[in-house]
Amino acid sequence: MQEKRDIRALTKSQLEDYFKTIGEPRFRAQQVYEWLWQKSAQSFAGMTNLSKELRAKLQAEFVINHIRVDQMQRSSDGTIKNAVKLYDGKIVESVLIPTDKRITACVSSQVGCSLDCSFCATAQLKRMRNLKPDEIYDQVVAIKNEAENFFGRPLTNIVFMGMGEPLMNYNNVLAAIERITSEEGLGMSPKRITLSTVGLAKLMKKLADDEVKFNLALSLHSARDEVRSQIMNINKANPVADLAEAVQYWYAKTGRKLTYEYVVWKDVNDKPQDIAALVAFCRKAPCKVNLIEYNPISEEGYQQADPAVVEEYVRQLNQAGITATVRRSRGKDIDAACGQLANKNELQQV
Ligand code: SAH
Repeated sequence: MQEKRDIRALTKSQLEDYFKTIGEPRFRAQQVYEWLWQKSAQSFAGMTNLSKELRAKLQAEFVINHIRVDQMQRSSDGTIKNAVKLYDGKIVESVLIPTDKRITACVSSQVGCSLDCSFCATAQLKRMRNLKPDEIYDQVVAIKNEAENFFGRPLTNIVFMGMGEPLMNYNNVLAAIERITSEEGLGMSPKRITLSTVGLAKLMKKLADDEVKFNLALSLHSARDEVRSQIMNINKANPVADLAEAVQYWYAKTGRKLTYEYVVWKDVNDKPQDIAALVAFCRKAPCKVNLIEYNPISEEGYQQADPAVVEEYVRQLNQAGITATVRRSRGKDIDAACGQLANKNELQQV
């Protein structure tokens, strides 16, 4: 028997083509698309505005795959981490981050990660595969439901800051965002979505060429090649000068401010020349800087810099007219903070 196809792998126009070939009117595609995305239908049987015969036909030809929240952990600060089981049994993590004003979903784009940033726990998992658009979309739906159920509030923001490098899964991430922002999907504003990249200069420029409407964040951590290449291997192929050109290109095309993520470590990037290099980099294009607290991932190695150094970063950035925010970690007690997503509980799962 031929294996059934995953109906959610089809774009809307592919769905339209399908209905045309079976002699159904075009608006069927619209109806089914809304069931699949806006209503997250789990089966064809529930698609009540289709005839019984059509439902049976779809059922015979297609499957509707869905992810499952396998384990949910809640932090003492309200943060929720979901271990999500994909339909091939692989696991990724996503995080709900509540604040007074916002509820943010932090979602994964790959199973594991192929980059080897030396300070990140996800880097210790090897990359196994890219997520499909529906697997990304469903992580957002799961968090949206948790926001409503546990907090009685809507999901307000989405960040692609979970496991993986979103630009290495370019097409599927963009397809997921297309559905998340579509009125036939979740209808969220792209202004509330941020994609974070390790800094793949060519693909950052491609985003600008593709006229995406969401925000871009760059995990910078150092604006000096000799430092950045030591902690982020990817910098060797994407040196700071290329990143500067990419952010200028992004701003020229989109007119949207960039965000730079930056951790200050003791004896790594806590010298006056590190601060000066960051300030110079920030002058390349309008931006703001998020100074993230370091979340230790092992006993040894990196150490958070002296708070006075972080303050000095803020002072000099502000003096240059650049907004800098010091970000406290959320969800540390359940390994849900930046850089801590590593499927730690996988072994305990049945
Ligand atoms: N691959 C993308 C998406 C991951 S975002 C990217 O690199 O941007 C995860 C963020 O957490 C990145 O900014 C990353 O640099 C940061 N991070 C990784 N390990 C960390 C740690 N141990 N403590 C604090 N931040 C960390």
